[in-house]
Amino acid sequence: MPPIARRSIARKATVAGTGLHTGATTEATFLPAPAGRGIVFRRTDLAGKPEVPARLTEVEAVERRTAVGRGDATIHTVEHLLAAVAAHEIDDLTIDLTGPEPPILDGSVQPYFEALAKAGPTEVGGEPAVLSVQAPFTVTEGESSYVVAPAKGFRLTVAIEWPHPLIGHQAGSYEVTPEGFAAELARARTFGFTSEVAQLQAKGLIKGASAATAIVLDERGIANGVTLRWADEFVRHKAADIVGDLALTGARIRAHIVATRPSHSGNIALAWALARAGKRTGGGEPAMDISRIMDYLPHRYPFLLVDRIIEVEGRQRIVGIKNVTINEPFFQGHFPGHPIMPGVLIIEAMAQVGGMLLMSHFEGQNVDDKVVYFMSLDNVKFRRPVVPGDQIRFELDMVQFRGKTCRMKGAGYVDGQVVAEAEMMAMVVDR
Ligand SMILES: [Zn+2]
Repeated sequence: MPPIARRSIARKATVAGTGLHTGATTEATFLPAPAGRGIVFRRTDLAGKPEVPARLTEVEAVERRTAVGRGDATIHTVEHLLAAVAAHEIDDLTIDLTGPEPPILDGSVQPYFEALAKAGPTEVGGEPAVLSVQAPFTVTEGESSYVVAPAKGFRLTVAIEWPHPLIGHQAGSYEVTPEGFAAELARARTFGFTSEVAQLQAKGLIKGASAATAIVLDERGIANGVTLRWADEFVRHKAADIVGDLALTGARIRAHIVATRPSHSGNIALAWALARAGKRTGGGEPAMDISRIMDYLPHRYPFLLVDRIIEVEGRQRIVGIKNVTINEPFFQGHFPGHPIMPGVLIIEAMAQVGGMLLMSHFEGQNVDDKVVYFMSLDNVKFRRPVVPGDQIRFELDMVQFRGKTCRMKGAGYVDGQVVAEAEMMAMVVDR
């Protein structure tokens, strides 16, 4: 098979309209991005234009839609837009938004899919991240269940059940390729029931719903006069939603997924299971990106001090990066007018990289309930100060590993010069 390249778009494209849940008018603009950027939202209406990567670690809400966010920069209902991105097999893209929610448009993925088709999906080099599975596994979340099996491509088999005369039991199986998605799933619209309108409105949702944005059903049939595009449009839309939610893995999927009664919370649980159990190849550097690191380390802001792992050699050696910026919270007080990184935090960052090396010994096992404790530090030396703008490269070697305890030797470098070194002992304990 010829090697596949990462894809972005050749030129920008814009769609505009009203958000389904927030009711806010928003423009979404797709912009070309260089290889390796990934899919990144940018809220251009907020100060500093904060960026939110379309990644699982950023998921904030899964009720009736999937929302991602960082701080005040929340983006609601990303699934239809992301389904179009994933269906076109686009790996690198910036999405500028002038508001909190991409427009719902006609309730389907089609307007986004068409806009991206016109923007000219194009190869940008580099190797795309691909998630494949080696052995079947299942995921259950509430009423939703999924069976994941190895496959060469991405196939979705979906079944839904609704006690409604137009739905009942619907099932379908779809090949998720740009052509397959365009023909079978892109035009399927979202749907809702008149009976739940009041309840959803009370929760502050569906403020932007209107006759043109969804199929609305009452007890007997269609309440808002739209004509179905397929008799089984409902299950097709649920399949499209899964494609969008799985885009948050940041990888192309190679698996056959059989979904029963899928929901957004179920799809996100499925995406996490795929990210953990699946085999990730490509994506170039990093060997482990920040979302993978956050799978292994319990540390969070302001105490997650590893940005990426760039090399893992067996279970013997690991190389990780910490980018030090003036925005580090500790620079506010250490010291005003003379910012230098506290030495103990350099050692903490080194220890976190070491924790990743130790955790690699549990690869393939569930590490959710495991945490690394450091037991001793020896021969700690600080060679030179670390200041804003420095990138520290930590290199650690496993000296000894017995049972759950290990001894590692590490050093941190800035521009090839040693800034700190230490020997450390650590153990893995159950939380
Ligand atoms: Zn949807």
